[in-house]
Amino acid sequence: MTTAQPLDVTPTPLALLLLGRASDPSSERGVDCPGDLPSPSDPGLVERARAARERLGSRLFVLGHHYQRDEVIQFADVTGDSFKLARDAAARPEAEYIVFCGVHFMAESADILTSDAQAVILPDLAAGCSMADMATAEQVAEAWDVLTDAGVARSTVPVTYMNSSADIKAFTGRHGGTVCTSSNAERALTWAFAQAGENGKVLFLPDQHLGRNTAVRDLGLSPDDCVVYNPHKPGGGLTADQLRRARMILWRGHCSVHGRFSLDSVEEVRARIPGVNVLVHPECRHEVVAAADHVGSTEHIIRLLDRAPAGSSWAVGTELNLVRRLAARYAPEGKEIVFLDRTVCFCSTMNRIDLPHLVWALESLADGKVVNRIQVDQDTEHFARLALDRMLALP
Ligand code: SF4
Repeated sequence: MTTAQPLDVTPTPLALLLLGRASDPSSERGVDCPGDLPSPSDPGLVERARAARERLGSRLFVLGHHYQRDEVIQFADVTGDSFKLARDAAARPEAEYIVFCGVHFMAESADILTSDAQAVILPDLAAGCSMADMATAEQVAEAWDVLTDAGVARSTVPVTYMNSSADIKAFTGRHGGTVCTSSNAERALTWAFAQAGENGKVLFLPDQHLGRNTAVRDLGLSPDDCVVYNPHKPGGGLTADQLRRARMILWRGHCSVHGRFSLDSVEEVRARIPGVNVLVHPECRHEVVAAADHVGSTEHIIRLLDRAPAGSSWAVGTELNLVRRLAARYAPEGKEIVFLDRTVCFCSTMNRIDLPHLVWALESLADGKVVNRIQVDQDTEHFARLALDRMLALP
């Protein structure tokens, strides 16, 4: 797992904050590359990647998440958010190898939605997600016991964000709940409250900010209707009475990238760029979302910037690789796009997928050696699929 390091960094326009510089082998999915990685300074890497792709032909399908580096994105057959990419993979049954340039939970979802004949490959097994790592199967099972003891489990429907492990999606499926994305979280919560019945509750995993923002901003609940379950405290740090009174039980998880944006960043950019539109992802903290002009998923952010008029200015609160790409794409149209924070911050685990790992994975596959395959066991897959299917059937 990678977590925000308490580094003393004075923000400047070009300051660089590296999250997760020290890896944690006990919670990373894996740390070492099992093969011989090409050197990052090898000038022939792009050519090697192209040659391996050519050898693999239509047997290969490369997925690139929006937050990936440019050096990797250039080799993606399709780009998108995690759910779109998993569906794109499922729509390509002829592809024997799905190389997922993203993080571990995304590759798991692709494995769940594709056939057994297709192998999903994650070029670097250490590309996990710090948010997904914040909710383990054991912690969530323990939390359910706490809810059961408080007498609220029967009126609680779990909803998990796509950014969670297959184990957590399976837990949700087993307990009558659904998966959601940042695009359909409002519909998922509306559905879940309807299932939970009068005075029913939702247990929202693992991103407290997306859960709170959707409940308060979109569904009109009060912040007081929400409680935060801390898996590191006995009983989640909540009394039985607090659990009984709550409508939203938010898991204490967050994204280490989006959680960094603050009210100060919003105020600072408004002072620096008069008339700027502040556009943020709903994984940002509630006060940031409340102060923003526009809030939406990665796909929504891209659509909004695409339609923005020439001469408009935008400060965008999402991952830096994407913001930089959008800034370069729309600069010729006269749109000014800047990163919301003055401290440059990438998703460190997304950035683990680099050209050397991609070349290594592609050349191994072209040589007939399947490396770094992500496989979800059948039982987990069955229940995770149930939760994903409920999401697909959301009204
Ligand atoms: S940006 Fe946040 S939620 Fe996405 S992979 Fe990185 S840590 Fe996880």
